[in-house]
Amino acid sequence: MPLLQIEHMTHYFGGLRAVHDYNLTIEPGEIRGLIGPNGAGKSTIFNLITGVYTPSEGKITFQGKNIVGLPPHKTAAMGLGRTFQNLRLWRHMSVLDHVKMAQYSQLTYGLVGAFFNTRNRTHQEQKNTEKALGLLDVVGIRYLADQSVTNLPYGIQRRVEIARALAINPKLLLLDEPTAGMNPEELLDLMKTIRKVHKEFGLTILLIEHRMKFIMELCERIQTLDFGEIIAEGTPKEIQNNPRVIEAYLGKEVEA
Ligand code: ADP
Ligand code: MG
Repeated sequence: MPLLQIEHMTHYFGGLRAVHDYNLTIEPGEIRGLIGPNGAGKSTIFNLITGVYTPSEGKITFQGKNIVGLPPHKTAAMGLGRTFQNLRLWRHMSVLDHVKMAQYSQLTYGLVGAFFNTRNRTHQEQKNTEKALGLLDVVGIRYLADQSVTNLPYGIQRRVEIARALAINPKLLLLDEPTAGMNPEELLDLMKTIRKVHKEFGLTILLIEHRMKFIMELCERIQTLDFGEIIAEGTPKEIQNNPRVIEAYLGKEVEA
């Protein structure tokens, strides 16, 4: 069974057709890429998958279950973890607390435990902290656990978002332009981190990216979107040599 399957998905914002007849099948364990020029509809697809928007038409199934119409907290609970193109962090909250917050939806100590400081709750809190620190370790920023996010460089903030997405124990991780604002060195570091996360957690990943080197090296298959439609799908090599892709995208924006 595919992990995620999208069939004939179309979405309108008023009169604007942002996504048209979009199809995607992701098998467990894949790292899949999604590229396309600005405004092509990539982030909208993430928002449709995670339930921020409900598609105008089409089917989305996750582990065989229909998820159309489920709100973001439900899709997250089912195992859809994501990061946002524009960072959504609380500026004055610590790095560690960002990751712990995300875990609370997964805790089991229940209503009573939440009101009284029971032994069970303290135990859960401890486990929660340990797990969060472990995730910060995985993305290489454990040493910044107590820092508030405010003054951290952009590349580090992106890692906080990834750790937060991992905190819900996702089966599918959706990364929306994770290298935005990163320098070449940070980019290589992040590539290693994504490979590690993919391997250690057996995660399936869907990646939106502009940086060609990054996406070509990480993904086995890539879709190219233009004006809300898939114009090409294939291996990095096939995509790089596809005339429609070159015309729509690569020709204009060749980036390292
Ligand atoms: P990409 O991520 O590929 O750059 P987006 O998915 O953000 O593209 O946007 C696709 C199109 O949909 C763009 O024309 C954008 O202006 C439009 N769009 C995105 N979100 C909204 C929204 N909430 N309301 C109206 N139009 C939107
Ligand atoms: Mg986008």
